[in-house]
Amino acid sequence: MRLENNQKKRRTKWWIALGATVTILAGASLGALSAYNWSPEETIEGLFGISVQQSLTQQNHEERSIDEDVKEMSRTENDEKSEEPADPVEPDENAEGDTAYPDEPERTPETMEEPTYVQGVLIANKEYPLPTDYAPGEDPEARAAYDEMQAAAAEAGHSLVAFSTFRSYDYQTDLYNRYVEQHGQEEADRFSARPGYSEHQTGLGFDIGAEGQEEHWASDSFKDTKEAKWLAENAHQYGFILRYPAGKEHITGYQYESWHFRYLGEELATKVYESGLTLEEYLGI
Ligand SMILES: [Zn+2]
Repeated sequence: MRLENNQKKRRTKWWIALGATVTILAGASLGALSAYNWSPEETIEGLFGISVQQSLTQQNHEERSIDEDVKEMSRTENDEKSEEPADPVEPDENAEGDTAYPDEPERTPETMEEPTYVQGVLIANKEYPLPTDYAPGEDPEARAAYDEMQAAAAEAGHSLVAFSTFRSYDYQTDLYNRYVEQHGQEEADRFSARPGYSEHQTGLGFDIGAEGQEEHWASDSFKDTKEAKWLAENAHQYGFILRYPAGKEHITGYQYESWHFRYLGEELATKVYESGLTLEEYLGI
């Protein structure tokens, strides 16, 4: 009888210990998840300091000063003249071809006579370049919408600045060549468009940052600012979409750029935003 009791006690203790361990582990996981907005991806990034979708090399490049160049060059040029993205898709190994420039391109900036429109939307990506001489300047409608958005952001306590908008083919040539010199072509292709392929050449791409926080301009760290969060949630109401969301590099061809917005007009921007899709997916191209 006593032996049985002892066995029972031991068994009970064992179960209590097991229960406590499970509770602690579950609690720790939930705590970590909630600390990182319930995103397992961010939790892993946050806890281990690594990016799920980006290699360490890439992470380093983001923290290096390459984006200083954009800032610097954009300033020079100016002087002269979700929310979480829904349903991030894990990049798969076979998707490499989607992000790269085509080996034998059907279209090149030199052969293009007109820019490409798909369902009325002007497209500039790695598959659809713009003609070298396409130079519309900054789109006035996009600028007006941006100004309206900037005013609304100011009312919400955020001071926005569009630090780079229209970039000409020649300007992009200089920018891209500098990146290639610094980082090699393969790496440069992940964050900078080749001349003729940049959305900035359409006059509809706006790189947006917080005023006085140049250290976050065109930098991965911008995503954690209150301005980036406001933009991600509200830009569509003014006709802009976050063009290169996290986890969509294999579709858009570019790494997550929390600062790059594309003007589409309020109606389409809202539809794309609500779909949780990239522009390429939304248009089926
Ligand atoms: Zn940009």
